[in-house]
Amino acid sequence: MLPEPRRESALTQLRGVGPSLVEKLGRLGVHDITDLLFHLPLRYEDRTRIWPMGQLRPGQHVLLRGTVVRAQVQFGRRRSLLVKIRDDSGEVGMRLFYFNKAQQAALQPGVALQVFGEARRGATGLELYHPEYVLAATLEALPRLDGRLTPVYPTTEGLSQKKWRELMDQALQWLTRHGHLRDLIPAELRDRWQLPDLPAALNFLHHPPLQTDPDTLREGDHPCVARLVVEELLAHHLGLRQIRARTRAESAPDFYPQGDLSTRLLAHLPFQLTGAQHRVLGEIFQDLERPVPMLRLVQGDVGSGKTLVALCAMLRVMENGWQAALLAPTEILAEQHARNLQALLQPLGIDVVLLLGKQTRKQREPVLAAIASGQAYCIVGTHALFQEEVQYARLGMVVVDEQHRFGVDQRLTLREKGRQHGKVPHQLIMTATPIPRTLAMSMYADLDISVIDELPPGRTPVVTSVLSNAQRDSVVARVREACTQQRQVYWVCTLIEDSEELEAQAAEELYAQLSAALAPWRVALIHGRMKPKDKAEVMAAFQRGETQVLVATTVIEVGVDVPNASVMIIENAERLGLSQLHQLRGRVGRGATASYCLLLYQTPLSQAGKARLNTMRATNDGFQIAEQDLLLRGPGEVLGTRQTGEASFRIANLQRDQHWLPVVKEVAETMEQSYAESITSLLARWHAGDMNYGRV
Ligand code: ADP
Ligand code: MG
Repeated sequence: MLPEPRRESALTQLRGVGPSLVEKLGRLGVHDITDLLFHLPLRYEDRTRIWPMGQLRPGQHVLLRGTVVRAQVQFGRRRSLLVKIRDDSGEVGMRLFYFNKAQQAALQPGVALQVFGEARRGATGLELYHPEYVLAATLEALPRLDGRLTPVYPTTEGLSQKKWRELMDQALQWLTRHGHLRDLIPAELRDRWQLPDLPAALNFLHHPPLQTDPDTLREGDHPCVARLVVEELLAHHLGLRQIRARTRAESAPDFYPQGDLSTRLLAHLPFQLTGAQHRVLGEIFQDLERPVPMLRLVQGDVGSGKTLVALCAMLRVMENGWQAALLAPTEILAEQHARNLQALLQPLGIDVVLLLGKQTRKQREPVLAAIASGQAYCIVGTHALFQEEVQYARLGMVVVDEQHRFGVDQRLTLREKGRQHGKVPHQLIMTATPIPRTLAMSMYADLDISVIDELPPGRTPVVTSVLSNAQRDSVVARVREACTQQRQVYWVCTLIEDSEELEAQAAEELYAQLSAALAPWRVALIHGRMKPKDKAEVMAAFQRGETQVLVATTVIEVGVDVPNASVMIIENAERLGLSQLHQLRGRVGRGATASYCLLLYQTPLSQAGKARLNTMRATNDGFQIAEQDLLLRGPGEVLGTRQTGEASFRIANLQRDQHWLPVVKEVAETMEQSYAESITSLLARWHAGDMNYGRV
């Protein structure tokens, strides 16, 4: 079945829609009538009844009618016009901070006034600030009440609510007239979950009848809202499953054990793999032995030893004579991986090559040549790994470290990059962000998931304290003490502004202060605006223990490993999200010595900031932190998809609608079995412009 053609539902079919309106609607993602109908009200206003003033509570949005009893200009902190109105049940005030002579003259005692707005506690009891108002000589002369709730739409400059309502009325008529908007969720499934059909749900949401309680609509638990939420989540989930099915239809090289590289590697290590590492490695090996591309996500808390698991998998690929590439999100991390892997692989006689965007031609040429000739087996790099000029001889597997920086798009690009003779490489994706299970199954439906749910033995949990900025001096004293004990310290400097430059400046100031305060101990500085070469040198010196304190911006967030560092200080910790704090804290506590994390905050502390800091103090468990993060900030943060734009929904709100995920999964499975013809249309409806879900 073909997707519903968009021409039939062009916006210009609606009266009064020309190019400028099309452009404005486009800004909000509304490209045709279907999109328009899925543009749901933010909230509803109830102008269908008159609320008795005597029963008014603060925070209510209501329509009031009464007679003006007095109007007077008041001179408080700001000059304002206060108009008192009264009905049979009580009295309220309307307060205007901007008003002209004509308004003032019209608002005379005795005239009838209708106001619509939010009640709040004012200086004279309940007041409405700048409500919409209508005047008339008598109460009877005021306009008629609305016959239905008034929807209020999310909008953009130059598009009034009145215009939205007109457009929606027309769109709904179009829907009735043409019946184009087919219900793509089969009736059998709708009935099972008590979801209304699509036209009914849309009609209801754009024109809720009189007796509807606007709060149930806002909270998303109304069946009509749920109907659309389920449809949207379903489209997302089916899209991912389709990517998965396509991947499974590809072929990949199969890698059976050949030789003893991993055994020799493990024999050299001073420790054994944990049970969880073993289990996950077993799952990966099973995938690698099949001639189908692996797409596996490995979740493991910071420090759970993901790198080693990845390396063993890479060795399996290499001993089969194929190349394995490790992709890191930052240059620092890529360099660190290259160094670590090189040290581990040296005894096995394997060289690691490193490819970074910032390398000079002269530096990259030999690397590119080694990759193209197949001489390089173990390749580490950043995004540079999938640039045009990189040609792989035989790429058997790609490991993506710290997956949350990469989206579906990039996963697909990588796969295509390694395609050769009809085979695509296996993909292993590693993330330190523990995602609650149902959420992971739904959001990563294109991946298989393994969890390393055990930390190597002998780690002492990090002790976290929360301190106000006023206690800085005592923090400096703690740092000095740690230095005396031959321990090293990270001091992370953060800013809210999304500016590398300001952040670098703040770090430089802190660096100067601490250098003076801590002498003779040596302080070093690292930030995002430094040259990669300088960053690498600073990191290396810190790793060798030549500097004791490292002042850093959040560039050290991911993956840096200095086992001797045992104190982590985070400035403005209240501004960071839980998962970021957890990542940063994970930089310490890697050895056997007791480690500390000191979270410094600026007063005043918001409720949310306080809740986050308390969570950090209360637990070291990444899964618990992720669950909390989900509650406090929502899935966009937990999944780390803000940057990539992945998983942003028009109607669904994962935090609110999580409980639908298992239903969505079940509906998706049934549709694949029995209603496959609806799936294409559903994907086209929700992801039309979106290459991920389109024909690849
Ligand atoms: P992450 O999962 O955060 O990427 P890493 O792979 O960087 O963790 O491992 C953290 C540290 O733990 C490294 O120094 C690594 O050598 C060490 N490590 C890994 N596996 C084990 C193990 N089974 N026993 C002891 N230490 C281990
Ligand atoms: Mg890591």
